[in-house]
Amino acid sequence: RAKIQGRNTYCIFEEGMDAAVRKRRVLEADLSAAIEEEQFVLYLQPRLDLHSSGITGYEALIRWNHPKKGIIEPADFIPVAEQSARIVAIGEWVLKRACQMAVEQLGAARISVNVSPLQFRDRGFLDSVRTALEESGLKAARLEIEITENVLIEDDERALEILKALKKLGVGISLDDFGTGYSSLSYLSRFPFDSIKIDRSFVHSVSGSENVLAIVETIVRLGRALGMRIVAEGVETPEQLVLLQAEGCDEIQGYLVGRPQPLGSHATMLPDQVVEALLADPVRDRDP
Ligand code: C2E
Ligand code: MG
Ligand code: MG
Ligand code: MG
Repeated sequence: RAKIQGRNTYCIFEEGMDAAVRKRRVLEADLSAAIEEEQFVLYLQPRLDLHSSGITGYEALIRWNHPKKGIIEPADFIPVAEQSARIVAIGEWVLKRACQMAVEQLGAARISVNVSPLQFRDRGFLDSVRTALEESGLKAARLEIEITENVLIEDDERALEILKALKKLGVGISLDDFGTGYSSLSYLSRFPFDSIKIDRSFVHSVSGSENVLAIVETIVRLGRALGMRIVAEGVETPEQLVLLQAEGCDEIQGYLVGRPQPLGSHATMLPDQVVEALLADPVRDRDP
């Protein structure tokens, strides 16, 4: 191989592979310590209810506070944790911590927790939800589980069983990143979602593209017809808020309202531009 590709190509390729594999091994080893030493932190991002104009819930987003590397984002370790099945232990910690935070610090607000496909299908998943609720004393109705379409791809029956059991517990279920996976409309009629989260890739271009606006409009109508709440994620500008409100979204989440932050660092009042946007009348603005 070395001779065919040339000596340099071969060396660079081989070294690159080694580095990637080594980095991954180090990360994996560090992850097991991270679980034991509880190096994880939950940041919270507010969800704004467009009907009441109030913060009625928060999404819990994990960060890894690495002793040497500092804060590591979920994109950089969740996939590794998922492949080594460590995600199950991490996910259990997230559930416990999120429920505890909600009871101790969040008043009546709801808490949303992301659950990965492997954790969702793990035998102990339902028990870990029950335990988290029992130990914290959180009312089930204040907890929401966010799953993505990937969870539903294989073995529909089992996924449906788990979702029904969650419902029976009284826990809310949300379909995250809607429109980005192998979306099938039939999921929506078969599975008992309480809310759908429109992926931020749609939200991002909602004010610049008639086509995207048409898609958002359709998702809202569809969700409505099925009795689901519509949440838009990744809202960054007042224009997006005004449009999404006019389209009939129930809730928004995004940097415009607030970035994910550790508990206790959240502003107590809505940013001025959010208040202004909430008061804007899109019909009047469009048709002077
Ligand atoms: P997600 O559940 O779709 O979470 C939304 C992501 O969008 C978060 O990234 C959030 O910080 C980011 N975001 C929020 N508002 C805005 C905005 O206005 N603009 C932009 N550009 N981004 C925004 P984050 O915190 O890096 O999390 C990434 C993903 O990692 C999450 O996507 C979720 O799938 C996963 N994740 C996070 N926490 C957990 C966890 O505890 N367990 C599991 N299994 N997955 C998690
Ligand atoms: Mg989410
Ligand atoms: Mg999402
Ligand atoms: Mg995501």
